[in-house]
Amino acid sequence: MLTPETILKSTFGYDAFKPLQREIIANVQARRDTLVIMPTGGGKSLTYQVPALLFDGLTVVVSPLIALMKDQVEQLRALGVSAVFLNSSLSPEEYQENMDAVKSGQSKLLYVAPETLLTPRIYSLLSSLKLDLLAIDEAHCISEWGHDFRPEYRQLVDVRRKFPSAVCMALTATATPRVCDDIESTLGFTKSNKFLASFNRENLFIEVKPKREPVAQTLKFLENFKEQSGIIYCFSRKQVDELAATLARYKYSVRPYHAGLEDSDRRRNQEAFIRDDAQIIVATIAFGMGINKPNVRFVIHFDLPKSIESYYQEIGRAGRDGLPAHCLLLYSYADASKIRYFIDQKEEPERSASYQHLDAMTRYAEGSVCRRKPLLSYFGETYSQENCATCDNCGMDESDLADITIPAQKFLSCVKRSGERFGAAHVVDILLGSENEKIQKYNHHELSTYGIGKELTKSQWMHISRQLVEKGLLNQEPAYRVLSVTVKGLEMLKSREQVRGQINEAQKKERGARVKSSEFEYDKSLFSLLRNKRKELADEAGVPPYVIFSDKTLVEMAGYFPQSRESLLNISGVGKVKHERYGNDFLVIIKEYCRSNKLDEKYKAPMREKDDAGRRYVAVGEAYNAGESLENLMARYDVTADTILNHLARFIQAGNPLRSAEDLISLSNLSPDQQMDVFKAFDHMGSDMLKPVYDKLNGAVNYDELRILRLCYLCEKR
Ligand code: ADP
Ligand code: ZN
Repeated sequence: MLTPETILKSTFGYDAFKPLQREIIANVQARRDTLVIMPTGGGKSLTYQVPALLFDGLTVVVSPLIALMKDQVEQLRALGVSAVFLNSSLSPEEYQENMDAVKSGQSKLLYVAPETLLTPRIYSLLSSLKLDLLAIDEAHCISEWGHDFRPEYRQLVDVRRKFPSAVCMALTATATPRVCDDIESTLGFTKSNKFLASFNRENLFIEVKPKREPVAQTLKFLENFKEQSGIIYCFSRKQVDELAATLARYKYSVRPYHAGLEDSDRRRNQEAFIRDDAQIIVATIAFGMGINKPNVRFVIHFDLPKSIESYYQEIGRAGRDGLPAHCLLLYSYADASKIRYFIDQKEEPERSASYQHLDAMTRYAEGSVCRRKPLLSYFGETYSQENCATCDNCGMDESDLADITIPAQKFLSCVKRSGERFGAAHVVDILLGSENEKIQKYNHHELSTYGIGKELTKSQWMHISRQLVEKGLLNQEPAYRVLSVTVKGLEMLKSREQVRGQINEAQKKERGARVKSSEFEYDKSLFSLLRNKRKELADEAGVPPYVIFSDKTLVEMAGYFPQSRESLLNISGVGKVKHERYGNDFLVIIKEYCRSNKLDEKYKAPMREKDDAGRRYVAVGEAYNAGESLENLMARYDVTADTILNHLARFIQAGNPLRSAEDLISLSNLSPDQQMDVFKAFDHMGSDMLKPVYDKLNGAVNYDELRILRLCYLCEKR
C-alpha cells in the first residue's frame, strides 16, 4: 500500500520526515487548504510531491522561476517520477508533448508559471482532468508586502475559484506575519491550517569577523574549503569583478555574477556553478533566487548586507542538504558608512526604514550573544538554548575567556595618549618600550604608557587590539588603519568595567577543531572518487550533479561503505529508481576501494530502529492528552518545562487538539487580569510569533510567560 512513509523511503530514499513534513502531508491528504512557512532547505517541495503521488488526479505546481521548474522536474525524473513543466522556454513540439503527457495521465505533476496557468489552452486542459492539488510555491509573491511581489500571482485567486474541489497549498520561506496574513486572506484560507517551521538552521556555522584584510582573510578561509562550492557576496559590481579576478589568479575556479553582465554570461556562470564546473561564484545580491543547489558549503559576506532579512536569506543558501556549512561575515564600520551614504540619497519614509534595517544589522555584527538569538528574534522566534555551539560567540566556553581589563585599559590609554594618529603596530611598540626610529621621531618614549606592556608579546598585543576593535571599543580607520578610541571605549575606561577576551589567538583555532569533530566521519578520498563518478554521470545525462545524488548521500556512502544492494538502499537519498539506475556504478567503486584499503562495511541502523527524536512532540502531546502531568513528562524525557511546552506548542500547531489548559495555566505567575491582557494581545497580533506580542505589551511580560500563555490560548481557541 502507498503511504507517505513508503513513498518517502522507496521513491525519495529518505529515512525520516523533516519537522512538520508529515503533519503537512496529512493535512493535505485530508483536503484541507494549507499554508507552509519553512526556511530555505526546510524541505517544502516534498510536502506537495508526496501528496501528488498519493492522489489519483493531477497536481499543479505554480512556480515563478523557469530555471527552478526545470530543476525540480529533472530531480523528480531522476527519482522515476514523471513530471513535466509548461512555460515559454519550450518549443511548440515540446509544449505539445508535455500537454499530452498530462492529458493521458502519464504525468501526475505539472509545473507552470502563473501567467501560463491562465491561458485558455491550459485552462481547457485542466478543465478536462481531475485536478486534486494546486500548490503555489514562493507564495509570498502574491503579497504586496513581500519582497518579491508579482502581479500575475494575484490572478491565482481566479484559478483557485475555478477549481474548487482541488485542495490548495501555499508555500513560502517568508515568515513576516503581514505577508502570511495576506496570502491566507487572498486565497481564502482558514487559520488552523498554517504550519510554521522553526527558522533555526542548525547545520549552519555562523561567524562574524572584523574585516581587516578581506582578500587575505578570504583566501585563508578558502584553504579549508578546497573543491567545495560556495558563494561570496559583495556590495558592488566592481568589487565582484575585482575579487573574482584575484581568486582566479590564486587558481580558484571562480565566476562573477551581477546585473552588469550580459544575460547569456550570467546564465553560463550560474550554470557552471550549479554543475560543479566552477567552485565559487562571486556575486552581488542579484544571485541566488533561481538556484536550488543543495551543496553550497559556505557563504562569505565580503561586504555588509543591508538588512538582517537579506543576510538571513543569503546565508540560507548554504547547506540546504542539511550537511554542515559555514557562513562568514566580514564586518567593518567603513562598510556601514558606505551603505549609510547610499541611504542618505533616498527619500522618506524609505530612508528611515533603511536606517533601521542597517542599525539592526550592525548591532547584530557587533553583538557578543549567540548569533542565533538576534537572528531568530528578528523573525519573532525565541531561541532559548544557552549555547548553540555553532556560532562564533557560542563555540567558545566562557572559561576560554580571560579577564583582559588591564591590558585593554593600557592599550586604549596608549592609543589616546599618542594622539589617535597611529596603527596598532606602533601602539604595541610603545607599550613594549621599543626603541625604534618612529618612537624617537615622535618622542613616544616620553609617554606615560611607554614600556608598560612588557608582560605580553607583540602578537598577544596585536590580538588584543583586534578584539578591542571587534568589541567596538576602538575604531580602525580603513585606509591607514589608524586607531581611535570610541565613545564606548571612553566609557569603559571611565567605568573600569570588566572586559573579557582571549590572550592568545591559538585558542580560537582549537575551538574550530572542536566544532568539526562532532560531524559525521567519512572517508574523504572515497568521497572524492564517488563525486567524480557523480559528475561523470551527471554530464552524460546533462543534469546538475545533485540530481544524481546529493552530497549527503555520497557522505553516507563514504562513511558506511555499503557492500550490497540492501545496505545501499539503506543510505539516505537512495530510492528504488536511483538504485536501479546508478547503484551499481557507485557500489563498484566502494567495493574496490574497501578491498584495496582493507575496510569493512559499517552497520547503519534501518529507519525503524532509530529513535525518531524529530517526532517526539507527538509522543509528548499524546501522553499529555492521556492525562500525564507535566512533571511526569519532564522526568520521563529528562528535559525542562520549557522543552515540554515547546513540544506541546508544536503538537497544537501541527493541528492536534490538546486536552485542557488547566495544568498549563498553573505554571503562569501572572494575575488573571494580566493574563487577560496577554490573551487580548494574541487576539490582536496572532499567536505565531511572540515578538509582536512582547512588543505590544511593551516588554512587560517575559517570553517564558508568553510561551505558557500562548499554549493556553491555542488550547482554548480550538
Ligand atoms: P525548500 O524548498 O524548503 O528550500 P527543498 O524542498 O529544496 O527545501 O529541500 C531541501 C533539501 O532537503 C533537498 O535536497 C531535499 O531533497 C532534502 N530533503 C527534503 N526532505 C527530506 C527528508 N525528509 N529527509 C532528508 N532530506 C530531505
Ligand atoms: Zn550561538
